[in-house]
Amino acid sequence: MTARSRFATLGGAAVLAMLLALPAAAQSLKPDEVLSSIAVSPLSAPNPVRGADGRVHLAYELAVSNASAWFIRLDTLESVDPAGTVLSALSGKDLAAMTLFHAGRDGAIAPGGSATVLLDVSLAADAVLPAQLSARITASRLKDANGTLVPDHSEGPAPAVYTFTGAPVVPGRPAVVVAPPLRGKGWVAVSGCCDALTAHRGAILAINGRQVAPERFAIDWVKLRDDGHLFTGDGTKVTDYAYYGDPILAAADGVVVNVYDGADEQVPGPDAKPTGITPANIGGNMVVIDIGGGAYAFYAHLQRGSLKVGLGDRVKTGDVIGLLGNTGNSTAPHLHFHVMDGTSPLNANGLPYVFTRFSGQGTLAPGSEDELERGKPARIEPRLVGPMTDMLPLNDQVVDFE
Ligand SMILES: [Zn+2]
Repeated sequence: MTARSRFATLGGAAVLAMLLALPAAAQSLKPDEVLSSIAVSPLSAPNPVRGADGRVHLAYELAVSNASAWFIRLDTLESVDPAGTVLSALSGKDLAAMTLFHAGRDGAIAPGGSATVLLDVSLAADAVLPAQLSARITASRLKDANGTLVPDHSEGPAPAVYTFTGAPVVPGRPAVVVAPPLRGKGWVAVSGCCDALTAHRGAILAINGRQVAPERFAIDWVKLRDDGHLFTGDGTKVTDYAYYGDPILAAADGVVVNVYDGADEQVPGPDAKPTGITPANIGGNMVVIDIGGGAYAFYAHLQRGSLKVGLGDRVKTGDVIGLLGNTGNSTAPHLHFHVMDGTSPLNANGLPYVFTRFSGQGTLAPGSEDELERGKPARIEPRLVGPMTDMLPLNDQVVDFE
């Protein structure tokens, strides 16, 4: 047996016990190094954005993989700055509600499974941005999904409950400033950022072996009628939606770098099921515009044949680039708008943006979004109200554009 192969056999509890018996100066792990079972890494660094609540949001995601034979329950997750100051904290059910469990349930990641935690670290408008953000996680090793703890040190040196700090990120550049891509009153920011697991924030994809969050700041814009309804009739015709065909405006100057105009309109309605969806047409008829600085604006689900621009065209802010439609993966006419760091709408990470000007009417009450899609009028609460400058509309906010 060579020295190398003998070394390779060293491992497991017996050897660790031997090493731990050595003098303190030769510790195998330093006090801040914890056997964590899980690996945690950010998908990308967060860029700060001022939301319509006046706070600065750092929205990003942590990929968690459980390379162990235990269930791992995430008990608390604190976002800490380099001094250890806690900037935000989630625990228990609140943490589970912001976690996508790719394998596991009830707040526990299955053996060999993974999860994605969606973070929204929000700071007062005048707060100093942290130079770095880390995650301080307390987790438990469980025998099963019912919550039975593995006894401390029963299989090697690992305790049942443990705390570690990791996954450091450095906040990036400020949000991109763009003009609203729509005109008129009563637009609802469906599935917007930041503090809920919406369809957009939960759209974590793996492309060529890399996990990305293209839609983390995406908004599906639908427009209320004066009576607060989304549509007339039963909502199963695109013409039941008065805003179907509204002009879509370029949010910034730029160059068209990606277009698709081969998707037919879907049948809308409360029970609609989009058909014929492929990776190429999932966004329906769409336009991607390079707006400079590594940012790309994406406009999706436009009417077939309505695109006013082609590849390579230069556009100016406010130019009409197409008409609002119901193509691709869409159950009712809407504009899906987001800004991202690449030309491919799915293979990119979402970048935050703010709109130059808009006015908040309020925010949909809990449950009202589903009711709207079923034909009931909007219930609007007086939250996020008033004229706003250089802010990101937040989830379910109802806003007026000029
Ligand atoms: Zn969308």
